[in-house]
Amino acid sequence: MSKNIDKYLHSEMDNAAGIVHSQKRTKIVATVGPACDTYEGLLNLVKAGVNVFRLNFSHGSHEDKKKIIEHIRNIIKNEPYNIAILADLQGPKLRVGELQDGRIELKSGDHFIFTIEKMVGTPEKIYVSYPNLATDVKLNERIFLDDGKMEVRVVEILNDKEVKVQVNLGGILLPKKGVNLPDTELSMPSMTEKDYTDLAFILEEKLDWVALSFVRKPNEIIELKRLIKEKDCMTKVIAKIEMPEALKNLREIIRESDGVMVARGDLGVEVPIEQVPVIQKDIIRKCMHRAKPVIVATQMMESMIDRTKPNRSEVSDVANAVLEGADAVMLSGETATGNYPTLVVETMSKIILGVESSVYDFNRDDILTPQPHSPSYLSDAICYSACKLANDAQADAIIGMTQSGYTAFMLSSYRPRSPLYIFSKEKTLINQLSLSWGVRPFYYAEEESLDDIIFDQIKILKNRGFINSGDVVINTGSTPVEDHLPTNIIKITKVD
Ligand code: PEP
Repeated sequence: MSKNIDKYLHSEMDNAAGIVHSQKRTKIVATVGPACDTYEGLLNLVKAGVNVFRLNFSHGSHEDKKKIIEHIRNIIKNEPYNIAILADLQGPKLRVGELQDGRIELKSGDHFIFTIEKMVGTPEKIYVSYPNLATDVKLNERIFLDDGKMEVRVVEILNDKEVKVQVNLGGILLPKKGVNLPDTELSMPSMTEKDYTDLAFILEEKLDWVALSFVRKPNEIIELKRLIKEKDCMTKVIAKIEMPEALKNLREIIRESDGVMVARGDLGVEVPIEQVPVIQKDIIRKCMHRAKPVIVATQMMESMIDRTKPNRSEVSDVANAVLEGADAVMLSGETATGNYPTLVVETMSKIILGVESSVYDFNRDDILTPQPHSPSYLSDAICYSACKLANDAQADAIIGMTQSGYTAFMLSSYRPRSPLYIFSKEKTLINQLSLSWGVRPFYYAEEESLDDIIFDQIKILKNRGFINSGDVVINTGSTPVEDHLPTNIIKITKVD
């Protein structure tokens, strides 16, 4: 036993995960907005099962965000929960501008011009916020408006500022609606000026995760990571998969990212919508194989924005994401602007727990065994064996230690049936790991003998009621302790 054990026996050191959190393996990400942005509002969501709060940088000021961050950090300080904060950069979202009379009717067969010069749109000419429009698009390519509700086709490139289009699918266009170019290889930079300003704020606030929107190439992730490292920050990066080009580069993007979001809103506009479910499945499986947390996002419980019960199809959508092995499911408008933010999280938690406690909790046939060609093969093999041993011995806990997060992500990627407790001396990781499937993180900074460390960790979990006398637990760790090597041992213990 280490001489400092006493300070870890109570929750004030790390806010060990609360009971709702400790039962649910799949995590919930909730977007913060006016419907929930007070201390009490956010706390209610945490109590109902939220593990990660998403701040959407497409809306609101830095001042507003500062207040929300302060509330979340006070909740972490005052209450027995770990929570991560995920900052979602807007990215180069293309939009039309203001419109004459506040709306324009687009009729199938009609022609009009898209211009990159700012103006109030008329039925003849409409501004679009993409300076490279006329140089990037080619004849016959499609342009979607308002989430694909309207569709036009390029019929003439008039000059380097203007493109003539014909309406394929008409409708009423409203100001500031989104524009998608699913057929076009876009030359736009991955981050806008606004994104750089937002990133500076995010890094100053030392937020846990940052999501990059409209990722197309792995280099965009590498560059964002470089900017984060330059500021000496530990913020981890999520790639939002919502562009056809990202699907072409999926393996490399997953390899470079710390996590991934299946951003089904824009993805469902950019690719034929019927392909989205299979793409979701493929992304989840690839992320699990690479031990990268993956979030399924958008319209999961949409009808609960103004109703107290979800649609049956929404219940199945959440359940299906759990069965597929997603680390987290995300709520957007449901918690940000909806009428029932707490009820929607409670409902989502129940759906998750319902699936996880059933015999169909999750199909583990898809789990990839450690790959001998991987540079981390030996520690991967230890993590895999620890999970297998836990399963064979029906262990009551797997207890891992991590400094970089790697062992936690790896153990989690094998989706073990036994509860997974992770100890780390890196305080930033304690909250970051809130996104990872099944992980319950704890702070622990002692570096005495491995025997002492394992003894302490078992005692801490027992003292806090997570394990009991007679339980079987599996520990992973590394020796010699002072060398900080990747995970290299497994130990099995019957708790005294
Ligand atoms: C999405 O497109 O699904 C998404 C999550 O991104 P945003 O909410 O920023 O559009």
